[in-house]
Amino acid sequence: MTMAQCEVVQLVSISPRFDTELVRRYGALPLFDKHSATDVPPEAGTARVLVTTARAGFDRGLIDRLPALQAVCSWGVGYDTLDIDAAAERGIAVSNTPDVLDDCVADLAWALLLAVARKVAQADHYVKAGRWRDMGGFPQAMRVSGKRLGILGMGRIGRAIAKRAAGFSMDIGYHNRRAHPEAAGRYFDKLTDLADWCDFLVVACPGGPQTRHLVDAQVLRALGSEGILINIARGSIIDEQALEAALRDGVLGGAGLDVLESEPVMPASFRGMDHLVLTPHIGSATRDTRGDMEDLVLANVEAWLAKGCLLTPVR
Ligand code: NAP
Repeated sequence: MTMAQCEVVQLVSISPRFDTELVRRYGALPLFDKHSATDVPPEAGTARVLVTTARAGFDRGLIDRLPALQAVCSWGVGYDTLDIDAAAERGIAVSNTPDVLDDCVADLAWALLLAVARKVAQADHYVKAGRWRDMGGFPQAMRVSGKRLGILGMGRIGRAIAKRAAGFSMDIGYHNRRAHPEAAGRYFDKLTDLADWCDFLVVACPGGPQTRHLVDAQVLRALGSEGILINIARGSIIDEQALEAALRDGVLGGAGLDVLESEPVMPASFRGMDHLVLTPHIGSATRDTRGDMEDLVLANVEAWLAKGCLLTPVR
């Protein structure tokens, strides 16, 4: 009896449900402990589809070891870790999981914005530490409703964030590389002008070399001592040293970050900062959305193997 040829390889575990399903449907070969391209076993040589994640990505070295590869299906929407150029050179198609996570990531942006502006984490600690009882009233915070919201990256997630701002009666401004006339709000062709105009700046553009340290000391100065910065996109977009200095010196009012430049390691200087709220890259991390993302990866794998097309190719 001959063994079926391997058609699908999986670079990292996504969830027990997903991993099991990929094996059940396609007899997928896990490469979980294969940290370098030279570890790829010979059975993977026939694989047509590689499943990876936005965090693990893939590089040229890995796809060079997969001579039959036709498509990469990535779990997550960011593609700064996916070597799209190397894939394009080989004619390998690449998909991600857009749209299904927009609402959850936008919800988290708002959770961070409200938490920083209204000092929710500090207030929680104040009550639990008995300081409400011992010291009385809590310091006043910043009103959110009626203020100006700036969005860096008015894409799918940026628009979901803007949609929620209607409930807070906010004016909206945004900065992209070009104006999107169909998007809500006023377009700023310079990020510093947007930062100068708004009270809250939410970062929602892609990571990677093109946006590295786009939010620098000058942008933080323009946002100002009453301004609040929120980042749900990628840590690389913010110059973290400049952010640390701006928060320390009172140049910036506060920040809420779901992503860090060297995550999961936090800069030590962030530890004592109570006007900084951090979450561990959980933008899409609800059971519902993670399930939808898994289903979309499976649908992309199926579409490729059955019809030679991807449902959500990376643009
Ligand atoms: P998207 O629809 O592609 O939107 C990105 C927007 O950024 C586009 O409107 C684009 O407009 C703009 N942009 C691109 N490069 C830019 C630049 N150099 N300067 C200014 N604007 C630029 O992407 P999305 O689905 O909304 O996702 C956005 C990012 O969120 C992802 O790339 C990912 O890194 C991050 N994310 C994080 C989490 C989390 O768990 N925290 C979850 C999902 C996604 P132009 O082309 O007109 O410039």
